[in-house]
Amino acid sequence: MGCVFCDIIQKKIPADIIFEDDLTVCFKDANPVVPFHVLFIPKEHISSALGINFQNSKIVGRIFENISKIIEQYCPNGFRVVSNCGSDAIQSVMHLHFHILGGQKLRWPPC
Ligand code: AMP
Ligand code: ZN
Repeated sequence: MGCVFCDIIQKKIPADIIFEDDLTVCFKDANPVVPFHVLFIPKEHISSALGINFQNSKIVGRIFENISKIIEQYCPNGFRVVSNCGSDAIQSVMHLHFHILGGQKLRWPPC
């Protein structure tokens, strides 16, 4: 089955990529809900947070290291990291992704 985020990784479809390394890609969300809204994804196809295991978990550390590298220039006053998992969370793309949200004061709780 096709995966839109794997297509972005393979440059089969365009995306506004702001960061990329050997294991991860970060690009602007096509439907931003706040002024700064990007998605960090692993290049390895992992369906959701439930697919993280002993073999592949280092990718999560790498993503958070990379968030630290890029975030200061975009969200100096703070940001939020969200990973929707499963139908109650309305996960719509079945490739693990972390929303990075910022650029304004964020409300809490989110629901
Ligand atoms: P989620 O609901 O957590 O699965 O979030 C998936 C996100 O992917 C949504 O915020 C979409 O706007 C975003 N999205 C889907 N397709 C694309 C795409 N081709 N390029 C950029 N963002 C996308
Ligand atoms: Zn994928």
